[in-house]
Amino acid sequence: MSILVYTESENGKFKKAALEVVSYAKAVADQMGTSVTAVAFNADNAETLGNYGASKVLLVKDEGLKVFNAKKYAAALEAAAKNEESKVVVVSASANSKYLAPLLAVGLDAGYVSNVVAAPSNVSPFTVKHSAFTNKAFANTEITTAIKVIGLSNNSFGLVESEGNASIEDFSPSIPESGVKVESVDKATDKVSIADAEIVVSGGRGLKGPENWGMIEELAEVLGAATACSKPVSDLGWRPHGEHVGQTGKPVASNLYIAIGISGAIQHLAGINSSKVKVVINTDPEAPFFKAADYGIVGDAFEVVPKLIEKLKAF
Ligand code: FAD
Repeated sequence: MSILVYTESENGKFKKAALEVVSYAKAVADQMGTSVTAVAFNADNAETLGNYGASKVLLVKDEGLKVFNAKKYAAALEAAAKNEESKVVVVSASANSKYLAPLLAVGLDAGYVSNVVAAPSNVSPFTVKHSAFTNKAFANTEITTAIKVIGLSNNSFGLVESEGNASIEDFSPSIPESGVKVESVDKATDKVSIADAEIVVSGGRGLKGPENWGMIEELAEVLGAATACSKPVSDLGWRPHGEHVGQTGKPVASNLYIAIGISGAIQHLAGINSSKVKVVINTDPEAPFFKAADYGIVGDAFEVVPKLIEKLKAF
């Protein structure tokens, strides 16, 4: 009756969110007096999960599952949850997991709560804290079904190393045809991904044009950050759509979010509200972003950002 975890990987490497969900599951398992079983798809270094609290890894090695397919992955996880008699299944908050989790919950006849930000305050009754209303409030929700699916917000729990080894078992569940052919269109890149980033440097229309993104990229490089942008910036083709964050873009739950030349429209804030510290650089002291910010600089990005880069490089 272990806690089951879906661990996301890309090109065989675990994403940071995968290690975070295992850390989280270990805390839940300790509360429930049980252990953690992770399911990994075509991962190269499954034993790593033992360092974060997994006792067992079910390793699916299947060329047909190299590219994420929600229906097939849900079928594999459902089979694993049934084999392990898992009463709790934990997934991360990526776009893929958000698609996968409801399918999995239906398959397991489970209750599903997304955007969970902390270990359960109580496991009997099973009560989890999660964000609500586009991260403007928190709620404690009791999950009453026998099986529970939890979607953990990125960067909410953190990585917790644990002593112990995970046993690795090959796992070959029978997987139905999904009726959907999925091809990967992502380009391989060395850049930090928005989902995994501790720090995100984001630019808006205030930067005037794509030719001015050099300083955003340089600031991101100095900080080891991912780059992001507002919706109009990607709509105008100044930046790739993969960088668009907000209600209709990617969610950001970084430790530090630096918004440069972004007004702070409600749809933008909806996607970045769960970032821990928000810094705003904007010429307009009335820009709505200042109300949501922890720190703000009223100033011209073209003067402030180069100075910031200079100071950080001297650090
Ligand atoms: P602007 O609103 O034009 O703001 C530019 C800011 O730059 C201004 O505050 C200005 O004072 C400042 N500025 C100008 N010059 C400088 C300078 N030299 N230095 C520093 N600051 C400067 N938007 C998103 O971002 N993400 C979403 O997911 C999203 N989803 C949406 C969904 C719907 C249904 C709708 C209707 C809208 C959505 N939007 C979204 C758009 C959103 O409403 C805003 O229009 C958008 O966020 C504004 O982008 P911006 O802040 O880059 O541009």
